[in-house]
Amino acid sequence: MPEANGMAVFDDVIDNSRNALVSEAMDAGRIPIGYTCSFVPEVLLSVGKLFPLRLRAPGVEGTELSDIYLPPIICSYCRSLLECGMNGHYDFLGGWVLNFSCQHMNRLSDVVKNVVKPPFVHVLDALHTCTEHTIAWMVDELRELAEKLSNHFDVTINDDALESAIADHNRFVSAMQKIGALRKLEHPPLTGADFQKIMTASLAAPKDLLLGRLLNEHIDSLQARQGVDGYRARLMVLGGAMDDPRYIEIVEEMGGLVVGDHFCTGSVPGLNPISDESLDPLERIARHTMAKPCPRMLDSIDARLGSVKQTIEEHQVDGVIIQQLKFCDSMTYYGMAMAEYLREAGIPVLRLDREYRLSGEGQLRTRVQAFIESMGK
Ligand code: SF4
Repeated sequence: MPEANGMAVFDDVIDNSRNALVSEAMDAGRIPIGYTCSFVPEVLLSVGKLFPLRLRAPGVEGTELSDIYLPPIICSYCRSLLECGMNGHYDFLGGWVLNFSCQHMNRLSDVVKNVVKPPFVHVLDALHTCTEHTIAWMVDELRELAEKLSNHFDVTINDDALESAIADHNRFVSAMQKIGALRKLEHPPLTGADFQKIMTASLAAPKDLLLGRLLNEHIDSLQARQGVDGYRARLMVLGGAMDDPRYIEIVEEMGGLVVGDHFCTGSVPGLNPISDESLDPLERIARHTMAKPCPRMLDSIDARLGSVKQTIEEHQVDGVIIQQLKFCDSMTYYGMAMAEYLREAGIPVLRLDREYRLSGEGQLRTRVQAFIESMGK
């Protein structure tokens, strides 16, 4: 099976919400802001002394506390976040920024505001279509958030500050795209789990520190590394938020090599640069956000299908795994449409339901093994 090395440096960042890089930034007077969805623009939470952290629940064992407020049909991502909000795991955060991405997140937002009561909390509206009207709406939403952040944390959020944050974002994205492009190779120097470790680390630490301390050196070492060999099928993973690379490790232990992904904590939509059009920086951020290929968007299914097909062709993908959290409405409809579309296009598809916390490894191994065999690999 493909060997992976040099990745342990990312483990601390992934396994600990308050990891060494976060502590280093906080010791330097910077403030971590937790956010819940890729429709909350990280770049707006990266201005001045603020830095964004995608809310994750590494090591969460159960949801006894959050089950008091959230019924079991609420997705386990939301219940895990609330559990961490109630048990003090996130007390180091300066605030939370959520959005109305779905009914589950709406319910979580209510409970966070009234029970967790972080020092700062803001809920962004989340629109379901991308039109000139909804982009203008998003600009207003982001302007309101910018004013609240500026007043509460005493940071200057003007065009220059936003341009600087956009430049940092694009610098990071270009570094990550270099790594992402290596996955197109027949024998890439990293596995899918390696790549997801780096992607997850990028959501769990200040990106400038991650780039400076770990990533640049890692990119150099990748160039010299021997390519991955001995895999049976090239796979792509689609779906909802997934921030535990062990999930992909198990897929790869069964003979797959994950060479592409489309899920909201992965490379698509995570690694899209913000345009440098001659527009107001807040509008460019709004357009960048609204253009993200998310299952909850009602008007861009064809664009998303096309983008998935493009990745399949460019990365020579043999089969696709569509994974989703149980009870996730957005992914249920999207998963059905995507599976039908891909099967009609002759691409083998495996659909998997899962919990936020890695579980059912045995069943996962069996299903992935059967899937790879069904492709004659
Ligand atoms: S995984 Fe699905 S149900 Fe859960 S918060 Fe995300 S979109 Fe909502």
